[in-house]
Amino acid sequence: MTTETEVKVPEIIFKDDALTPIWEKVKREERISFEDGLVCLQTDDIVSLGQMADYAKRRLWGDKVYFVFNRQINPTNICVLSCTFCDFAKKKGDEDAYEMGMEEILGKLDPEMHEVHIVGGHHPDWPFERYEGIIRGIHEAYPSIRIKAWTAAEIDYFSKRFRMSEEEVFSRMKDAGMVSMPGGGAEVFSNRVRKQLFPGKNSAERWLEIHRMAHTMGIKSNATLLYGHIETLEERLQHMILLRELQDEAPGFFAFIPLEYQVGTTNLVPRQASALEDLRTIATSRLMLDNFPHIKAYWVMIGEETASIALNFGASDLDGTIGEERIAHAAKAASPVGLARARMLRLIGDAGKIPVERDALYNEIHVYDS
Ligand code: SF4
Repeated sequence: MTTETEVKVPEIIFKDDALTPIWEKVKREERISFEDGLVCLQTDDIVSLGQMADYAKRRLWGDKVYFVFNRQINPTNICVLSCTFCDFAKKKGDEDAYEMGMEEILGKLDPEMHEVHIVGGHHPDWPFERYEGIIRGIHEAYPSIRIKAWTAAEIDYFSKRFRMSEEEVFSRMKDAGMVSMPGGGAEVFSNRVRKQLFPGKNSAERWLEIHRMAHTMGIKSNATLLYGHIETLEERLQHMILLRELQDEAPGFFAFIPLEYQVGTTNLVPRQASALEDLRTIATSRLMLDNFPHIKAYWVMIGEETASIALNFGASDLDGTIGEERIAHAAKAASPVGLARARMLRLIGDAGKIPVERDALYNEIHVYDS
């Protein structure tokens, strides 16, 4: 990764002495360990942790914070799986099950957009050509919109359901117009959690194998972590370390996206993670994932206010305007369903940062006045 700018090292007055040796490593650009990460995830000295993470972020990007004018499309909520944490999926015949046709999908897009983000359920009957046709149809109608599509869980499903290798799935999707992959489907890389919450879904090894393949085929991607449910702090960190190792081995991740579990009606835990826990997780991930260009503050899950504060806790990307989001909102996320460009600019400006509009491949489209 390139260093955008030299930044002044802040004077940090620590209340938690356990952070001091970690700060020394951060200043020396030395990789921090699992044990260091645990200290960060447990500290009450949130201000110092934030200053450390903000320094690591500014060393990469200065005061720039990225966002994209995009649209999320969830083509169907009909899914063969029933992950315990998921409020989105429905079965065929359910009252609120839906399937979007091509006309409906194209009607949601606008040639000014720079990204379309496509994820959905694993439909039991759709042929591969229908998924492929969604990508091709968008690409032909809006060649300037970059298409980020299908999580590793979906690629795994396509490969098994249609008896194709993942290379073949990727190369057909690439030919149709897909340029990058979202980071969903990772959940938490823990067999204990997987057995309890999503036993039918791809394993951690398979998720990592699919992203490794994508990166080697020139398809960049993101990586998520679903936190704030039954996972332990150690499992959260182990997840980050596995991602860090893959990024060393086969670079290709743009961003790490911590996704706060939405209690919704699945009620795995009595209450949502607190804003402090969100900030601790974002700051710790900035320090742990030294080889990831960006940490995202996903406003849909953590809300606009916490997302804006997170821009001073190591986050360098606010995701996008989205337009309409069905997955988190099926779980009763309190955020609005979409944000206008002006509101994104205000959130970034309120945090004292410089808004940079990007496309799906992080090409800079416009740098705004701060
Ligand atoms: S999380 Fe994804 S794979 Fe699991 S039930 Fe929901 S839509 Fe289906």
